[in-house]
Amino acid sequence: MTARIIDGKALSKQLREGFKARVATLVEQGVTPGLAVILVGDNPASRVYVGNKVKACEECGVRSFHIALPSDTPQAEVLATIARLNADPAVHGILIQLPLPHIDGRSVLEAISVHKDVDGFHLYNVGGLVVGNTIFPPCTPYGVQLLLDTTGTDVAGKNVVVVGASNIVGKPMALMLLQREATVTICHARTRDLAQHTILADILIVAAGRPGLIVPQMVKQGAIVIDVGINRLPDGKIVGDVDFEGVKEKASWITPVPGGVGPMTVTMLIENTLRSAERALHVPGSEDYQDWEAPVLKGA
Ligand code: NAD
Repeated sequence: MTARIIDGKALSKQLREGFKARVATLVEQGVTPGLAVILVGDNPASRVYVGNKVKACEECGVRSFHIALPSDTPQAEVLATIARLNADPAVHGILIQLPLPHIDGRSVLEAISVHKDVDGFHLYNVGGLVVGNTIFPPCTPYGVQLLLDTTGTDVAGKNVVVVGASNIVGKPMALMLLQREATVTICHARTRDLAQHTILADILIVAAGRPGLIVPQMVKQGAIVIDVGINRLPDGKIVGDVDFEGVKEKASWITPVPGGVGPMTVTMLIENTLRSAERALHVPGSEDYQDWEAPVLKGA
């Protein structure tokens, strides 16, 4: 069996086409969606990621506010910047590029209004995942979920193994699939005998950041394999965590790297920003608005 390719680039393109119509509707109603991206310091990888996000915004008609702060910016100034953006009606989404130098990341993430937390990293949104009610699902697992949907697979009852337990990918991914009634196993660097778990997976999602971690013997015949990993090899080649050439002979569906999960992450960021702008059109107090409101904040 040779796996069918789950084409994240194509799905991303299709979704972004749809975004243009949503932006036009918003603009007609006097709202231009806006995303603020804060970069502290000059980490080269972060600069590339921020550049990609700003470019994607422009492509979809979303206004971007790129705020570059020097690496020695005091935490209080970062918090003040977030407070200003929280209060700015032209800004519908705020994200702060991680990792942060010398600043307590958690307190910065908690300062972002839950109504503008388009990365989905605020504790409110994280907690929302646990109870199956989040305003903004975190972008990478959200993208993976849509990629899985394109295979037409109902995940309910399936064995899903997530390799990687980070706060931004592995854990939220597991919670989202648990919400869809999959039987979820989470593996991580301390898991003993990884293969013993992965071989049982109907759906294997790998986000470890270890090139070549998943080889064909670890994969069940016919499994769906989603490779979140992005690794740069010494020769400059970008690869995932899965031995693509070997595993594609066993899997039924597989994502390539690049061109699988990667393009979806930024696309879901735009999706969350548009949703936030659409929420902003709802009039506070109306029935409509109540539907959109974060339940825990009602009456606050
Ligand atoms: P992380 O370093 O925060 O977490 C890695 C996780 O993998 C940890 O839970 C660790 O315990 C686990 N792990 C490490 N080695 C392992 C091993 N040998 N066996 C089993 N588990 C192991 O990383 P992250 O931020 O979650 O990112 C993971 C990968 O996904 C990286 O390659 C990153 O570049 C990529 N990523 C891609 C996207 C995207 O848009 N495609 C987004 C975020 C992260």
